[in-house]
Amino acid sequence: MTDGALVLFSGGQDSTTCLAWALERFERVETVGFDYGQRHRIELDCRCNLRTGVTDLKTTWAARLGADHAIVLPALGQISQSALTRETAIEIGDSGLPNTFVPGRNLIFLTFAAALAYRRGLKHIVGGMCETDYSGYPDCRDDTIKAMQVALNLGMERRFVLDTPLMWIDKAATWRLAEDLGGAALVGLIVAESHTCYLGERGKRHDWGHGCGACPACALRADGYRRYRDLPPA
Ligand code: ZN
Repeated sequence: MTDGALVLFSGGQDSTTCLAWALERFERVETVGFDYGQRHRIELDCRCNLRTGVTDLKTTWAARLGADHAIVLPALGQISQSALTRETAIEIGDSGLPNTFVPGRNLIFLTFAAALAYRRGLKHIVGGMCETDYSGYPDCRDDTIKAMQVALNLGMERRFVLDTPLMWIDKAATWRLAEDLGGAALVGLIVAESHTCYLGERGKRHDWGHGCGACPACALRADGYRRYRDLPPA
């Protein structure tokens, strides 16, 4: 088992920042993306440009970036009634959770990622889960991830380390982290090529990137970018 890393790489702002974070630290970095029929699956198309884009930024990153893996999980879309996989309005449900919540999504992603990391001999699994921005999603919380690390290590008899570099920072700090890792060029790449919008709209190019500009994911990304740039609120 090498000290390599597998990055859960969706093609969004968070996972692209995580990819740069991993490339800065680990000798070998591979990526995995999941297609579960999400409305914003356009993000999967962004992955290729982003992977190429980061290798253009630093020669060390280019040398370290390895294979990309795609895992298709249609069953997850079939069994969930989330606004991410169905044509319904995004709103807060009776449970207090947004209806973009796909129950157990990250538990499933991490399990598949670990099975893949097992086969590829990679020790670290890196994900963009964040308790600060997405505390509404129980499977993004730090305790959930730590419990998953224990369960995966027991169940697969390995010593995986689940890294979540964004766990305790907000969206403005995520933009700053990208700048620290790859300078203005990485920030520019994320703005131009990453996808966050829940509705899957590329649409208009805002200063923070493409998206509908109105859904919760766009609002969070836009607000974080404004605070990162010290711009006034919209
Ligand atoms: Zn949007």
